[in-house]
Amino acid sequence: TERKPLTELSGEDLARLESDLAAEFEEISQIGLGLDLTRGKPSAAQLDLSERLLGLPEPGDHLAGKTDVRNYGGITGIAELRALMAEILGVRPDEVYACDNASLSVMYDLISFALLFGTEDSPRPWIEDTDRKWLCLVPGYDRHFAVTEKFGFEMIPVEMGPEGPDMDEVERLAADPAVKGLWAVPIYSNPTGLTLSDHVIERLAKMETGAPDFRVIWDNAYVVHTLAADFPKAANVLEAAANAGHPNRFWQVCSTSKITFAGAGVSFLSATESELAWYGKHAGVRTIGPNKVNQLAHVRFFETAEGLRQHMQLHREILVPKFEASRSALEARLGGYEVASWTDPEGGYFIDLSVGDGTATQIVEMAAKAGVALTPAGAAYPYGKDPNDRHIRLAPTMPPLDEVEKAIDVVGLCTLLCAVRKAQAV
Ligand code: PMP
Repeated sequence: TERKPLTELSGEDLARLESDLAAEFEEISQIGLGLDLTRGKPSAAQLDLSERLLGLPEPGDHLAGKTDVRNYGGITGIAELRALMAEILGVRPDEVYACDNASLSVMYDLISFALLFGTEDSPRPWIEDTDRKWLCLVPGYDRHFAVTEKFGFEMIPVEMGPEGPDMDEVERLAADPAVKGLWAVPIYSNPTGLTLSDHVIERLAKMETGAPDFRVIWDNAYVVHTLAADFPKAANVLEAAANAGHPNRFWQVCSTSKITFAGAGVSFLSATESELAWYGKHAGVRTIGPNKVNQLAHVRFFETAEGLRQHMQLHREILVPKFEASRSALEARLGGYEVASWTDPEGGYFIDLSVGDGTATQIVEMAAKAGVALTPAGAAYPYGKDPNDRHIRLAPTMPPLDEVEKAIDVVGLCTLLCAVRKAQAV
């Protein structure tokens, strides 16, 4: 039978639907599924794509230019890998440092260095401004928000639209000198999958800010993580910012965490040469240099930027069926009832499920009872508080395909059951 929006169902229809779904929910809860859709991790099959890395560089292969990668030094990272990533990011090699295993550490460093020592544009260290604030595009990445929370920034959420945030709102907020910066994931954002438009990027580069040392942390974690045959073009934000007279505005980071091995890849910082020198000056006190052996391994593994892109197409072959299965499972459960909507991302690691206002927490709890672990509702918002309790982040990459199907089906079931009960209560 043709499905109708829940709002058009009679009390009797709702009651019948509720009892069917509740019975199914009970049955599934008895099984103890033990499925997990919480974190955006690569699956074992994806990790296997990089198995060859474990044998690289081969014995006897130690030189990056004249540098013996087995020895100390070289805070900038090795030239070959800087050049490779510069090509991916569309910047010059001297605008990139290759760092250690995690871009999150680089972001943490950047903010802690600015807090303790100030940037080259800072009148004083940020820590001296006790009422410091930070702009957070929402829904966004929980670990970003954890860093600015830890360092005592008041986080101000700005809702994402299809092309990015409302830039009038961002400009209005950034006029406050207490606002020191903004988190952004420009391509296939976590968790919305959205990509910032050129127009939004242009305005971020151009806008006047109250703080002379305002920084955008441009986290390009998903720059090559396409689910299509084409790759998105990374905007050259360094050039845009220089043209607008704010050369140091962007601190761009990315990593190979979801290209090779999560937690055992290479991260990168891209910024102006003077900003990189500032970073190196401070980072060089806390380390004598990054793991260049792993950097050379990555150079040998990819060989070229094109090699890296081809490798990402192998990831895509594994991921596309999981995203398709997720979409079909949501459609099969929820289609036609008009109780939820979900993103259909062209890249990245997540699906953002929007449910009825005030029900996300309850749905996550129900899913847990039915044996499916989800990211806590609200995680995509500063302080873990989604003001509308509406967003659920689904991470379909890690479990095997059949488990993804089952887990998403259960999420759909819980979403519908919750919506039916809410409709009955009206
Ligand atoms: N940024 C974003 C937007 C992410 O989604 C993730 C991983 N979930 C990271 C950074 C973490 O990257 P890394 O492993 O390089 O610290």
